[in-house]
Amino acid sequence: MRIFDPHIHMTSRTTDDYERMAAAGIIAIVEPAFWLGQPRTSAGSFTDYFDSLVGWEPFRASQFGVRHHATIALNPKEANDPRCREVLDLLPRYLEKDGVVAVGEVGYDSMTPEEDEVFAAQLALAVEHELPALVHTPHRDKARGTERTLAVVAESGIDPGHVVVDHLNEVTVGLVRDSGCWLAFSIYPDTKMSPPRMVKILQEYGLERMLVNSAADWGRSDPLLTRATADAMLAAGFSDDDVDRVLWRNPVEFYGQSGRLDLSDVEQKEATFAGNSILRGGS
Ligand SMILES: [Zn+2]
Repeated sequence: MRIFDPHIHMTSRTTDDYERMAAAGIIAIVEPAFWLGQPRTSAGSFTDYFDSLVGWEPFRASQFGVRHHATIALNPKEANDPRCREVLDLLPRYLEKDGVVAVGEVGYDSMTPEEDEVFAAQLALAVEHELPALVHTPHRDKARGTERTLAVVAESGIDPGHVVVDHLNEVTVGLVRDSGCWLAFSIYPDTKMSPPRMVKILQEYGLERMLVNSAADWGRSDPLLTRATADAMLAAGFSDDDVDRVLWRNPVEFYGQSGRLDLSDVEQKEATFAGNSILRGGS
């Protein structure tokens, strides 16, 4: 089984996680730029963080046979701090880099006017750089936040097929499906979405434009929940091909629109060796 986690914050994870992920078949990932818990007070902190996402972290991942890509943006929460606003001026330089496959995470946290402004500006950057956009939806007031998100996406003129709206649940899935955007679900240990709930959504809404991620970060989360969802799909009667579509081909198709997804290494390994145990050697 091969798994692509399209949203995971490896900066906050250990090498044990990389090792367990590779052993479970999670051999390609996208790490979106987000907030780090502790608020940053200057644009310089973002420069170092972005450099790490396109430099150090891909190297760390490669030691375990995991292919790492990044998305770059000023996140919705820190969009509210005027000291971080100049990050917008740093973005064009990063959006030209090879390992950057989208603009993200953008969107809403508390739905403030500052967030409106920064969200719209970054969707414009995605259009200008011909990149997809990864959109975070707020955890409070989710339905209203998702409606407003879709209105801003429509207004921006970006192709909805270039947009993934993330952290969806049973309440918001229908809204996003009708918009033409891609749909993403973060599987968490005890909030957001669980593997059994995810399986039900796939049974009801089908597999098209569906992405499943662990969104694992510095909070209570689990980088193996993409694999747990794949196993739950199989147990519920989905085929190996269905699992491959949701957990591999869909994220490859979405982020492949950047023209920068490079999976030659891991796909070759996958084709050469049956099973994933060989990846543990980190050769
Ligand atoms: Zn995230």
